[in-house]
Amino acid sequence: MDTIITIGSHSSLQILHGAKKEGFKTIQITPENRVKFYSQFPFIDKVIGYRNEDEAVNYINKYTDNGILIPHGSLVEYIGSERVKKISTKIFGNRNLFEWEANQRKKMSLLKMSNIPTPMDFESPEDVDRMVIVKLPGAKGGRGYFVAKNKSEVKEGLNKLLSAKLIKSINEVIIQEYVIGVPMYFQFFYSPILNRLEITGIDIRYETNVDGLRRLPFNLNIEPTFVVVGNLPAVARESLLPKVFDYGMSFVNTIKERVPPGMIGPFCLESVVKDSGEIAVFEFSGRIVAGTNLYINGSPYSWLYWDEPMSVGRRIGREIKLALNENRLNEVLT
Ligand code: AMP
Repeated sequence: MDTIITIGSHSSLQILHGAKKEGFKTIQITPENRVKFYSQFPFIDKVIGYRNEDEAVNYINKYTDNGILIPHGSLVEYIGSERVKKISTKIFGNRNLFEWEANQRKKMSLLKMSNIPTPMDFESPEDVDRMVIVKLPGAKGGRGYFVAKNKSEVKEGLNKLLSAKLIKSINEVIIQEYVIGVPMYFQFFYSPILNRLEITGIDIRYETNVDGLRRLPFNLNIEPTFVVVGNLPAVARESLLPKVFDYGMSFVNTIKERVPPGMIGPFCLESVVKDSGEIAVFEFSGRIVAGTNLYINGSPYSWLYWDEPMSVGRRIGREIKLALNENRLNEVLT
C-alpha cells in the first residue's frame, strides 16, 4: 500500500500535500473540468479526470491492490451513497459510519448516546415552541436551511422547500432548537495506533448571508441563509478544552461500541458555545472537515502534539505510515 487517492474537492489538496510529505504516491481523481487546476501542484503525482460518477468509481477501484482512498465531506455528495458501496479500494477510516451520517436522526442519536448536550429537536412542526433551525439532509453546505421563530414560520418554510423540490417529504428535515451563542467547530483526530485522541484545531464557518447581515447597523428584515463559503480560524479559552476533550473521548467510546470498528482518524463536533460556558453539539462529521484547510502548516493545537508542521492531511498519512511500520494497517482501513 503505497498510494493515497482522493476525490478532487473539499480538502483534497491538504490530504495529498500531507500524503506526499509522508512519502506516499498521490493520485487525484476529479471531475474533468478541474484537471488543469489540480495539475499545477507538484505534490500530486497523477490527476485523473472523470466524466461521470461510475467512471470515478472505476478509477478508484483500479487501485484496489496498492491504494488507500481518503474520504472527505464531498465523497458521498459527489459519488452518491450507492456507488460508494461499490468502492473496493480500502478506505482510511470507518466506512460503516457513512450510513449513520446519511440519516440526520440516526446521526444525532450517536451524540445523545455519548451524553453530549445537543439542542432539543422537534418531531413535527406542530410541536415547535421556540426559535428553531430547519436543516436538509446530506452535506449541502447549508443550502436551503432556514430559521423560524414559531410553528407557522416552520410550516411556511417547509412548504417553500417542498414546492422548490428541495425535499420530497418533511420527514427528510430535522427541526432543531436554535441555540443562542457562538459557533465553534472542534476538530479531532482519533489514533487507533497511538491509542489517543488529539484536538487538531477549531474553526468557524463563514456563511453567506448570515455573516454579512451582522455588519449592518440596521435590521433589513432579510431572511438569514447559511451557505458555507469558507472557514475562519478560532482558538478556545483554554478552560473550555478539558470539556471539549471529554466530549470527544465520549464520542469515540460510543462509536467503538455502536459502529464497529470504531472511530479512525479525523472527526468534528460542530457546536455552539453559550454565555454560560455550556457547549451544545448540533452536528458531527465523521471524517476530515474543510475547516482543517486553515491549518496546512499545523494548528495551534497540532504543534502541542507533534512539534512539527502537521496538517490533518499529513496526520492521516502519518497514521497510515505508523500502521504500516507496525503491521497494523487493518486497524485503520475498512
Ligand atoms: P450546519 O450545516 O449544521 O453546520 O449549520 C449551518 C449553520 O447553522 C451554522 O452557522 C451553525 O452555526 C448554525 N446552526 C446549526 N445548528 C444550530 C443550532 N441548533 N443552533 C444554532 N445555530 C445552529
